[in-house]
Amino acid sequence: MTQSQAMIEYEAFKQLGLKLDMSRGKPAPEQLDLSNPLLGELGSHLAADGADTRNYGIPSGLPEARALFGSLLDVPPAQVVVDGSASLALMHDTLAFAMLYGVPGGKPWSLQPVTFLCPVPGYDRHFSICESLGIRMVNVPLSASGPDMDMVEELVASDPGIKGMWCVPKFSNPTGAVYSDEVVRRLASMKAAAPDFRLMWDDAYRFHYLGERRIAMANVIDACAQAGNPDRAVVFASTSKVTFAGAGLAALASSPANIAWWQGRSAVRSIGPDKVNQLRHVRFLKDRAHVEALMERHRLLLKPKFDAVLAQFDALLGDIPGVRWTRPEGGYFIDLVTPDGCAKRTVALAKEAGITLTPAGAAFPYGRDPDDRNIRIAPSFPSLPEITQAARGIALALRAAVSG
Ligand code: PMP
Repeated sequence: MTQSQAMIEYEAFKQLGLKLDMSRGKPAPEQLDLSNPLLGELGSHLAADGADTRNYGIPSGLPEARALFGSLLDVPPAQVVVDGSASLALMHDTLAFAMLYGVPGGKPWSLQPVTFLCPVPGYDRHFSICESLGIRMVNVPLSASGPDMDMVEELVASDPGIKGMWCVPKFSNPTGAVYSDEVVRRLASMKAAAPDFRLMWDDAYRFHYLGERRIAMANVIDACAQAGNPDRAVVFASTSKVTFAGAGLAALASSPANIAWWQGRSAVRSIGPDKVNQLRHVRFLKDRAHVEALMERHRLLLKPKFDAVLAQFDALLGDIPGVRWTRPEGGYFIDLVTPDGCAKRTVALAKEAGITLTPAGAAFPYGRDPDDRNIRIAPSFPSLPEITQAARGIALALRAAVSG
């Protein structure tokens, strides 16, 4: 397609008067329907040990819910806390507690300037947590196999103000990066100038495959323990994209010392989690095999949508120099990379054509993409015909941005 043809097609696309919101990676209604049995009768409200889930207490979560997450995360149940329905809230509180009280063996982080390393492109809400707590952020380039480890090792070894790092180790948001075992080993064993350095290990997409390949990653908690840094990693997960988004279960897993620390701090903030929801989830999800079977049904709904986006991009963008995009094997996003300086304009032109995208720059700390070239594409929520059309509109908007 020539550029003038592309402009004509973009103008024609605008006339369609579409209205599509692709700004967030939400599950589609038919994915949520897969877990509708959760809405049915709970049956007995008594947990396996006879505890009444309707009442206060059991602050670290029902034993069977801790066991379920333990098996999903390959961690002993005693090293798992199941609490609330949003892993993001657990991440926020972990950092808020660290700032206010310090982590085991350390002083409150807030007594000194605090810096976090942020692999980029990354997850905007991680960066919002840092921004709101006054934690300075430093970008680290992220490749398909993880962050630039030479840079990470050098920075972490030399600056005691660097207290932590965000990691989405599998099918990262938005590039779909998967940390190699070597990267996990280096993160676990690297020398840290701050003795209370933490890896915020957000395992949001551990079971969220799009392709056929199954990836068993190195266990970060074990790797840290083996390297003599047992308290370094705090792992987060949830069932937001397994059952219901924001109405599932969230969990935190870490070393015994970090779990005891979390239990002490969180006891002040709550008299116990929603165990009714925990019991419903355990009865519905049952065990790891059932979770994997459910995730296969999600995969079958999601894969055609990702394929549709990739097919449109292949057809409409393959000939533009400097344009590329990721082909993720899992997760919820595609990262579309435009020529430098074209992302904001593309998002604006897509908006004019009725397609709302995540703001350009959102995948970077402070919303600043230094090269203005990354656009996060979230294919999950629209229907297949809608996403096909939207991908075409985004591609035409990009062509228009490049030629304008
Ligand atoms: N982490 C990542 C990397 C995510 O992409 C998302 C959802 N977009 C979340 C966490 C949010 O998880 P939750 O619903 O458990 O708060």
